Amino acid sequence: MSKQKQRQRREALVYHAKPQPGKIKVVPTKPYSTQRDLGLAYSPGVAEPCLEIKKNKENVYKYTAKGNLVAIISNGTAVLGLGDIGPEASKPVMEGKSLLFKIFADIDGIDIELDTKDVDKFVETVKIIAPTFGGINLEDIKAPEAFEIERRLKEELDIPVMHDDQHGTAIISAAALLNALVLAKKKIEKIKIVVSGAGAAAVSCTRLYKAFGANPENIVMLDSKGVIRRDAENLSKEKLEFATERKINTLEEAINGADVFIGLSIANIVTPKMLESMAKNPIVFAMANPDPEVEYELAIATRKDIIMATGRSDHPNQVNNVLGFPFIFRGALDVRATKINEAMKMAAVKALASLAKEPVPEQVNIAYKETRLSFGKDYIIPKPFDPRLIAEIPPAVAKAAMESGVANSPIVDWDKYREELLQ
Ligand code: NAP
Ligand code: MG
Repeated sequence: MSKQKQRQRREALVYHAKPQPGKIKVVPTKPYSTQRDLGLAYSPGVAEPCLEIKKNKENVYKYTAKGNLVAIISNGTAVLGLGDIGPEASKPVMEGKSLLFKIFADIDGIDIELDTKDVDKFVETVKIIAPTFGGINLEDIKAPEAFEIERRLKEELDIPVMHDDQHGTAIISAAALLNALVLAKKKIEKIKIVVSGAGAAAVSCTRLYKAFGANPENIVMLDSKGVIRRDAENLSKEKLEFATERKINTLEEAINGADVFIGLSIANIVTPKMLESMAKNPIVFAMANPDPEVEYELAIATRKDIIMATGRSDHPNQVNNVLGFPFIFRGALDVRATKINEAMKMAAVKALASLAKEPVPEQVNIAYKETRLSFGKDYIIPKPFDPRLIAEIPPAVAKAAMESGVANSPIVDWDKYREELLQ
């Protein structure tokens, strides 16, 4: 291990261990210093809201923290790029997600790690604990189990449920794709897309690109065995959805002439020769983490006309889920949406894409030590520390929830709502 890696490792461990273990804690929101306060907070005063909620369950949103509480739930089976490391080992990641929910959208996130790989048990457990929460963020659960878990919970619960590894990446990369296409002067209906990977992230990204107009006939998807062909046997439902009629087998064949390469697979599988074979102004989103399908420096040295994004913060255009989940849940919770549906996800995509085209506030340049970020090849998606995200994305999501009929508590005064978001 290099000296720098060793130092980073120590730093990360100390950060998590000191001054107290972990990254989150619970704090009271009401006065608690007198006997009177305690009589209100607990017995006998607490019985009053209990009775109000018993009379009408909706009052739980009025008298408890439910409406701002999101459960971040994992079983530790697909954690970061670390794989199946178990529920306890996934806890730092889930606590980290809680921290991000808090700092970016003032949402209280509670991490819950479940000791089961059984889909029925997982679904049943989440359903049983759901009354506590205003929303459920599923996290780092292996495919294909993740698809079924999310589908069933969405059907069976009346609070928003989102598996962030699927939809977060889809939303951010779709916004990046729409903007990259503007720069490349190409139409989404016409582009040839190669998707490397057929896991949780790849499948839901490709579904969302389709929703924005990508033509399924122009899409080729690959898994660890190569091109997913319609004439293959024993394909999963998800893979069958993107199987191609074309009689090709390799990435080299698939990428030849393609306009877009989407990588959600493994490191270093795209060669300079493959990049050379792509169409003019190629769009390459190499998002395997921590090492992309092709190194950033190699890719931009190979093709001057490339528009490139990765999952890494040390290159331009980081496809970072933190641009999505805090703001999407904020909007969903604020209208008490019963779902996070396609319309809400698409609204988030459009809001993110159009924000990147606006002039960048000076404080964002300063936060990222940039001189002048502006819409172009090296800036196709907003930066996480952009204070406009909280003012722009939740209202777009909330509005889409209202228009698609899933909002239980519609917003009336939008100016006031924006002001509250900025506080
Ligand atoms: P996953 O569900 O485990 O899927 C991985 C997929 O990659 C599988 O379909 C696998 O094929 C395929 N694969 C493996 N080797 C391959 C190869 N040589 N060529 C083509 N495909 C290959 O994982 P995931 O959650 O979708 O994540 C996939 C990758 O994307 C990871 O590196 C992850 O870190 C990254 N990711 C990045 C972001 C981001 O940048 N924001 C977000 C999410 C995920 P089989 O189906 O045959 O096993
Ligand atoms: Mg994740």
